[in-house]
Amino acid sequence: VKVTTDVEKCQGHGRCYDLAPTVFDADEQGRVMLLVAGDISDDLRGEARNAVDNCPEHALALTD
Ligand code: SF4
Repeated sequence: VKVTTDVEKCQGHGRCYDLAPTVFDADEQGRVMLLVAGDISDDLRGEARNAVDNCPEHALALTD
């Protein structure tokens, strides 16, 4: 399972990096940056799922 981000949709509300700071960080404008390359580990999956589900812009996804 991988995390994908759509920076075109991201409005920089910051929920993702508040909820999953191991998976996401902010760039200089507060927009999402992905910290994890490739498949996400099992122990981070719950955290990542929570952030994906709480992004108000639907800018994040988990994909197989
Ligand atoms: S929660 Fe969504 S809109 Fe907010 S910073 Fe993260 S990706 Fe961007």
